[in-house]
Amino acid sequence: MSDAPAFGFDTLQIHAGARPDPATGARNTPIYQTTAYVFRDAEHAAALFNLQEVGYIYSRLTNPTVAVLQERVATLEGGVGAVCCSSGHAAQIMALFPLMAPGRNVVVSTRLYGGSITQFSQTIKRFGWSAKFVDFDDTAAIEAAIDDDTRAVFCESVANPGGVVTDLDAVAAVADKAGLPLIVDNTSATPYLCRPIEHGATLVVHSMTKYLTGNGSVTGGVVVDSGEFDWSASDKFPSLSEPEPAYHGLKFHETFGPLAFTFHGIAIGLRDLGMTLNPQAAHYTLMGIETLSLRMDKHTQNAEKVAAWLETNPHVDGVTYAGLPSSPYHERAKRICPKGSGGLFTVALKGGYDACVKFVDSLELFSHVANLGDTRSLVIHSASTTHRQLTPEQQDAAGASANVVRISIGIEDADDLIADLEQALAKAHA
Ligand SMILES: *Cc1c(COP(=O)(O)O)cnc(C)c1O
Repeated sequence: MSDAPAFGFDTLQIHAGARPDPATGARNTPIYQTTAYVFRDAEHAAALFNLQEVGYIYSRLTNPTVAVLQERVATLEGGVGAVCCSSGHAAQIMALFPLMAPGRNVVVSTRLYGGSITQFSQTIKRFGWSAKFVDFDDTAAIEAAIDDDTRAVFCESVANPGGVVTDLDAVAAVADKAGLPLIVDNTSATPYLCRPIEHGATLVVHSMTKYLTGNGSVTGGVVVDSGEFDWSASDKFPSLSEPEPAYHGLKFHETFGPLAFTFHGIAIGLRDLGMTLNPQAAHYTLMGIETLSLRMDKHTQNAEKVAAWLETNPHVDGVTYAGLPSSPYHERAKRICPKGSGGLFTVALKGGYDACVKFVDSLELFSHVANLGDTRSLVIHSASTTHRQLTPEQQDAAGASANVVRISIGIEDADDLIADLEQALAKAHA
């Protein structure tokens, strides 16, 4: 299916990567609940272990259910290959791992999911990596932050939680000029609303936990490779361009061409880091993706309606949603995410921290949870939860100030959502 680009998105989200099961004819993709696969003979086993033949060895590396999901997401993103992993955060490490080494840095946007800010500002230091945080609306600042040790540029397409749309074309041009891959976290937009590879991204990462699965049932992540980066153009990416000792001196880029990153992700990344997606989780995500476009249209319609209503409420100081004409990102959104700005935005309340806490506690239909991209509408007060570890300056830069509540609009009836918000706002300001 992936070599049939003539199909539209709605067709591909159901069919890409999948075929009736060759053993049973099962029409839905079976859950291959197995750890290992029988080798035809010793020669077959040797060829698989040498990467001379592609096939299944052990489910830490590859699994047929997971493989369908990999092909599905790669196709929807317009990439050549993908590696699924156990969570969105695992995907971010898997994306950086082949590129980075002790002493190297990644230039990242200040506007990221709170967990990503912690991962990049704290945890990756244990690997000897570092991150330089920059305002990605300022391309000169990105350029200035890049140095000889920079190995990647990282941002979100529609940034969580602030309704900020990144000018991917402009950022990709900066990365390209410096000979660096651009990694785009496309979790909030999904490939239905935004296709980062068409705007110059080298790699796309997702938390599949969110809209791709769509119903808050499993965690998962994926790294999609555009196949377009020349890993051998400089000596900066030896993991991909130089001989790999663990595979008898095989050079990934020379051997696998545009699939080098994907093969490396499986043969080295999953093999040795073990951040594997299990086939049950892959099954739930495959089920979810079949309805991605239908859900994203409804999330977007609801978000547009609710955000416009909130903007006129006297208890509200402001709404950051790129789908609103008042947003400074409204025009850019038409280029980067032409089908809409998704279901995620923040609302700033009069009354600050205390009003936000009371508001969140008073909601009945919305759930107060650390998640987004669910069929259910969700809220979180980022400053007291997901962005709690950050300094007030980092919270402000990330769009998660103390007076701000993040809202993930579900696919319920918009009028019911508005009624719930109305009663909770009244209680918060009583
Ligand atoms: C949730 C999220 C992540 C992390 O994904 P997990 O699946 O929770 O590990 C990364 N980026 C964004 C934009 C997210 O929303």
